[in-house]
Amino acid sequence: MKKDIHPDYGPARVICACGETFETGSVKKELRVEICSKCHPFYTGKQRFVDTGGRVDKFKKKFNL
Ligand SMILES: [Zn+2]
Repeated sequence: MKKDIHPDYGPARVICACGETFETGSVKKELRVEICSKCHPFYTGKQRFVDTGGRVDKFKKKFNL
């Protein structure tokens, strides 16, 4: 593996729209996701996760969803 292909790979904090955060590996220091294992219906069994404080709306506006 060539070193210059992966210059900044390291720990990254993932921030979900539901407020959950967890560590992963990425070239970015911080990642924002709309859904994670804590709020995804597949894992929670719930139909929709609860949007507290308009976090999801803010996220959607940012990406024109
Ligand atoms: Zn989540």
